[in-house]
Amino acid sequence: MIKDVIKGLHRGAKHGVLTSKQGRNFYKGNKSGSTGRHTKHGSYVVEWSKVRTYVVPDMTDFKLVSKSDFISLDTEFTGIKLEQPSDELALDYGKWNNRNKDIGERYKALRLLVSTHSLVSLGMSIFTKKQSESNTTNYISNNFNFILWCQNTHLVSPSSISFLSESGFDFNFQIQQGIRFVVPAPMPKSKQEEVKDKPAKRRATSGSLSNSKVSETNDGRIMRDLIVSVFKGPGSIVIHNGLLDLMFIYHTFIAKLPESISTFIMDICDLASAPIFDTKYLAEYVSRDEASFLAYLYEKRKRYAQSSTNTINIEIRDEIQLFGIDLTPNKQPDDTQQQQTKKTGLPYCETFALYGYCSLIKCPLSHDIKFILDYKEASPQQRKLMKLEFDSNNPKPNNTESGKPTINGSLSSYHSAVFDAHMTGYIFAISSSMESVDSHKNKIYLIGKDFPLCIEPSKFSKHSEDYNEFKSKKFKT
Ligand SMILES: [Zn+2]
Repeated sequence: MIKDVIKGLHRGAKHGVLTSKQGRNFYKGNKSGSTGRHTKHGSYVVEWSKVRTYVVPDMTDFKLVSKSDFISLDTEFTGIKLEQPSDELALDYGKWNNRNKDIGERYKALRLLVSTHSLVSLGMSIFTKKQSESNTTNYISNNFNFILWCQNTHLVSPSSISFLSESGFDFNFQIQQGIRFVVPAPMPKSKQEEVKDKPAKRRATSGSLSNSKVSETNDGRIMRDLIVSVFKGPGSIVIHNGLLDLMFIYHTFIAKLPESISTFIMDICDLASAPIFDTKYLAEYVSRDEASFLAYLYEKRKRYAQSSTNTINIEIRDEIQLFGIDLTPNKQPDDTQQQQTKKTGLPYCETFALYGYCSLIKCPLSHDIKFILDYKEASPQQRKLMKLEFDSNNPKPNNTESGKPTINGSLSSYHSAVFDAHMTGYIFAISSSMESVDSHKNKIYLIGKDFPLCIEPSKFSKHSEDYNEFKSKKFKT
């Protein structure tokens, strides 16, 4: 039956500023490409751009999932904040503060966001350890990109949709072939008391964006079964800054999000059989990397793997197809930006290097993670040369030869949930080989906080009724 879902697998999902993970620019080279392959140096080379038929033979009966060591997930959705809603929507801005210092209040704002917007794609990267020879650790990474088409009326943020579109997200594909789903309708409040022992049919309360008249789709049900098997399987769940991902997954496939964060945590504790790891938390608080955005960590870990004596091979079983988006600027940067260049004296953008994000539309400085890392690792003499070369190439668009990196202020960039999921898994594989991460399980990164969200059961909290109902239907063991 998983074939029904596979037909919804899209080979060209794009993504944008829809997620909580900043720092999406990723060096890609140009639009030619080939498959992933091993190198002798304990790493691999992937050129992600070629279109190929997606064949996923191993997914029957979820064998891949049931034998996995860990599964990394990433989601994309239709917005992360309100953007000038019309008065008719009568939305209270105060309730949408998803950076609230109070985590309980922040959760409520995120819950509001999640329950009014929708997932558009889910990336899943399934890592399985292979028998290894000598001191080599071998992983196989199987990658899936699910394009989802929410059948509930939902909100979209214009900037998110623009970015998706600019990144090559195929909305026609989504509408015509995306996996149709309806979110689980909440139980009516009056019913909640009486269903404690007796599961009742879900019904939507009036005023909810869940539409009770749309019944669960076949694809949606299969997708839900897959998600349940992922969470109930033996493999750890790996996310990157993944609170919102978890909330979206829960809301989309499991049940209505509980009103309080403590109930949500209880439900997640029960749902996930294996530990959950957040690579942003690991980077910030365990390995204490200089920056912790995804593309930076990915590049950094690749370098580590190449230099490490403990070889790690990660074989990409199914190629991830991505479109290359050339964001090379063809205009001169404006004066302010020229000044910024002079001010730092660096050829790379410091803001980007730290946060993976830069607000300048046409930043004249390099956002190339490889270049930034090369520069940081270089000797003073090498830096001078790099700077000279950068300046001579900048701000003119740098039409380099096929496969060569560009080192000017902008790059080809591409986005997709599956690639982010894969990067997350890759980072986790290498990070967990560097030092034990076991004691850092079930800690989810919280933006702007110096403590994580701990996914631990509490004696003082209980599961939500919606979750109990879901559980009674779905995990009959
Ligand atoms: Zn910049």
